[in-house]
Amino acid sequence: MPQLFNVVTPQEAWLRLEPHLSPIGRVETVPARDALGRVLAKDIAAPSDLPPFPRSAMDGYAVRAEDAYGASEGLPAYLRVVGEIAMGVPAGIGLASGEAALIHTGGMLPKNADAVVMIENTRDIDASTIEVTRPVAKGENVIQVGEDVEKDEMLLTSGSLIRPQDIGGLLALGITEVPVFQRVRVALISTGDELVPPEEEPRLGQIRNTNAYTLASLALRIGAVPLRLGIVKDNHEALRQAAVRGMREADIVVISAGSSMSTRDMTADVINSLGRPGVLVHGVSLKPGKPTILASVDGKPLFGLPGNPGSAMITFELFVTPCIYRLGGCRQLPRRTELQARLTRNIPSATGREDYVVVKLEERGGELYAEPIFGKSNLLFPLIKADGIAQVPLDRSGLESGEMVLVKVF
Ligand code: AMP
Ligand code: MG
Repeated sequence: MPQLFNVVTPQEAWLRLEPHLSPIGRVETVPARDALGRVLAKDIAAPSDLPPFPRSAMDGYAVRAEDAYGASEGLPAYLRVVGEIAMGVPAGIGLASGEAALIHTGGMLPKNADAVVMIENTRDIDASTIEVTRPVAKGENVIQVGEDVEKDEMLLTSGSLIRPQDIGGLLALGITEVPVFQRVRVALISTGDELVPPEEEPRLGQIRNTNAYTLASLALRIGAVPLRLGIVKDNHEALRQAAVRGMREADIVVISAGSSMSTRDMTADVINSLGRPGVLVHGVSLKPGKPTILASVDGKPLFGLPGNPGSAMITFELFVTPCIYRLGGCRQLPRRTELQARLTRNIPSATGREDYVVVKLEERGGELYAEPIFGKSNLLFPLIKADGIAQVPLDRSGLESGEMVLVKVF
C-alpha cells in the first residue's frame, strides 16, 4: 500500500488551510433571549445609562452624608424620618437638612440624598426619629447613574460569542434583538461499503455508521448546523456526487473514512476532481489521526477524516472545530476547558508526532489524576469511558507516570 509521504505537523496543517478560510459573513437578526452561543455581527453600545436613576445598594436610610458627619455610638446623629421609598416607582420625596428616608436595596434615591446608611448602623428612637451611629461618605452604598454602564459605552464587540451574562446585559438595556452571523452549515458524508444506518441490523462484516452522528453532535454543540448526507459506497462517482451536493448545500464538507492511501480510499482523488486548489494536506503527524485530509475547493473547506471513531473525533476537534468558528465570524477561538492532572501511567510516543490519549479523571486526596485508557483507535468505548484527552507534545518521546499533563475535557 502506498504511504503518506508528505506528513506535516498539526500546526503546519492548520497553517496551510487557514489562508483559505474566510467568514461566511451572512447576518441574521435573532431575539437576544435566544442568542446563546451565537456570534455577534455588530458592535453593541449601550443605548442609555444603566442604572438610569441612582439606586440604593443596601437596605437602610437615604441621607445627606453631611448630616451624619462625625456620628458615632457615643455621639450619634439624630435624623427625622420623612417616609419610606417604595420599590419600582420614582422616589417622590426630597430630603431637607436633617432628614432621612427608609430605603431598600434597589430603591431610587430621593432628591438631595447622596448616601445610604446601612440599617445596622442606625437605631429607631421613635416612629419618626433614628440615630445614626456611624458616618457615611458621599456616594456610599449608592449605585450612581451610569455606574454599571454608561450611555454609548461599548458593551459587546462584533465577533464575540454571546454568553449567558451577555444576554442579561443586552436585555437590561432593552436590546431585545441582536444581529448575529448565520450558523455555519457542515455537510457530513460517511463512506464505506461496510456501513449501514444505525436503525438497521448489520450483517456479518457490516457496522453501523456512528461517525455521522458523533460528528454532527460535535458540530451542533458549537452552534453549527450539521447536514447528514448519509452513507456513500467506496465508489468514486458516488462520493463525488455526495461531495458536490455538500459543496452546494453547506459551508464545510466533512467526509469520514476513505482518507488513507489504499485503493479503496478515494477521498483525496475525489476532492482534487472538484476544483482548485484541492487537497492542501494529506497526512498529519498525529496519533490517532495520521490519514487526515485538509482541502479547499472554490473557497470552501473540505476535510477527509479517518474513519475510526476516535480518530474522526480527535481530528474533527483539531481542525473542523476551529474552521467552524473561523467561518462563523468568531474573532477569538474559545479555549477548551483544560485541567492539569497527574498521570497514573506512562504514555509511550515518538518524537515528531503529536499523540492523543483519552483519559479518565479521578480525584484522590484533593489531587486530580489522569488514568490513560489505552485501546486501538477503532474502538468506541474508550471514548465513552473517558472524561477528556491528554496530549503528548510533538517534541516528547512519551510522558511518564507521575508527570503533570494537560487534559482537554470533553
Ligand atoms: P477507513 O478510514 O476507511 O480506513 O476506516 C477506518 C475504520 O473506521 C474502519 O474500521 C471502518 O469500518 C470504520 N469506520 C468508517 N466509517 C465509519 C463510520 N461512519 N462510523 C463508524 N465507523 C466507521
Ligand atoms: Mg474505509
